[in-house]
Amino acid sequence: MPHFSLLLLLLCGVGSHSFPVAPETQQQDVETVQKYLEKYYDLKDVGTHIERRRNSGSVVEKLKQMQEFFGLRVTGKPDAETMKVMKQPRCGVPDVARFVLTQGNPRWEKTDLTYRIENYTPDLSEAEVDHAIEKAFQLWSNVTPLTFTKLPAGQADIMISFVRGDHHDNSPFDGSGGNLAHAFQPGPGIGGDAHFDEDERWTNNYRDYNLYRVAAHELGHSLGLSHSTDIGALMYPNYIFSGDVQLAQDDINGIQTIYGPSKNPTQPTGSQTPEVCDSKLTFDAITTIRGELMFFKDRFYMRANSVYPEVELNFISVFWPSLPSGIEAAYELAERDEIRFFKGSKYWAVLGQDVLRGYPKDIHSSFGFPRTVKHIDAAVSEEDTGKTYFFVANKYWRYDEYKRSMDAGYPKMIAHDFPGIGHKVDAVFKKDGFFYFFHGTRQYKFDAKTKRILSLQKANSWFNCRKK
Ligand SMILES: [Zn+2]
Ligand SMILES: [Zn+2]
Repeated sequence: MPHFSLLLLLLCGVGSHSFPVAPETQQQDVETVQKYLEKYYDLKDVGTHIERRRNSGSVVEKLKQMQEFFGLRVTGKPDAETMKVMKQPRCGVPDVARFVLTQGNPRWEKTDLTYRIENYTPDLSEAEVDHAIEKAFQLWSNVTPLTFTKLPAGQADIMISFVRGDHHDNSPFDGSGGNLAHAFQPGPGIGGDAHFDEDERWTNNYRDYNLYRVAAHELGHSLGLSHSTDIGALMYPNYIFSGDVQLAQDDINGIQTIYGPSKNPTQPTGSQTPEVCDSKLTFDAITTIRGELMFFKDRFYMRANSVYPEVELNFISVFWPSLPSGIEAAYELAERDEIRFFKGSKYWAVLGQDVLRGYPKDIHSSFGFPRTVKHIDAAVSEEDTGKTYFFVANKYWRYDEYKRSMDAGYPKMIAHDFPGIGHKVDAVFKKDGFFYFFHGTRQYKFDAKTKRILSLQKANSWFNCRKK
């Protein structure tokens, strides 16, 4: 899980505007890198130290390949971000296949497939395991012509088992954490089979590791999919549990390329992961957070600061598992180090990664909005005055955080006090004394003192995208 170790990073970056230089890489990290690349990027194990050094050219190449896959800055060096990703729990299937497949992608040549659960983990009841596996198959059968029938005994196409350590398929598990599970591509015998590491604790909730989530991924391999670089896809190699398990459009595109669409008259669609450098990108909400900027879109957040050149994109639930997706407004109450998130008539307050107790609360009773206000479009709080601005359709309210009441005389018209920014606001934050208003793909830098727009830019201008 990422942490808000921001202060340190910001201090490292001051003056250089570059990536903080990693302290001398420790021997342990060298081992981690070597093992990771051997396992997932087909780096050849060359054994001795001297040979390793001679081999370092290929380590750099493989490291670059890995950084490219995960959308990290391609340095060929084991920097902090790279090490963070390498230490995350993940699927045991390599990102780069050991053998180049010459005959196209492997697939099942029939659509009525069978599976069998050979043994059960003691972490869950048998019914819970059955249910998790069944649901995982359903995700894939919903979007393809495939059907899956559970066999009580005998040989099935897809054999599912819980095993630990070396289980005689040349792909040993590694105890708790790290490598969680793996599955084999379609084919006879072991082909299609899925193995789950019994040294993990398997759950049916948000605790590590949700069996349904991992099974949904592994069965993608059983059907012929390889890993995706789309962090929103189930086929992304690292374990991320976002509260609900659903196929992303990327997963659907992948599986339908192999098996064609489902026979269902209405074709199911999957969630789209935001393209941070797409000039058509729009946002649900934006807030400052401890000196950084956090942008929200559907199930995702994007984090930008002056230190990391790459935008961090991940599920909102990675920081705050109990927050909903589709946040509509967010603001930072800096003096309390609190962030408030709004959706519908509810709001949540968080401190760092903790959602505060007693939330969600109601916006009508807490702030005094009239019942006609069903949701907030955008919000921003001024640290120096303790005033919070709420934007709702073409009006805005001003709330006093000290008195804990709405200021008299509101709502007022946005067009009157913030001329030029349009009649509706998607998101807003305040930085270095200026308001930044977002509407669609546009962003307005606004000076409240002179009531003037200072500049107009694309909404994603904070993401350091190379101009195309
Ligand atoms: Zn995998
Ligand atoms: Zn195995």
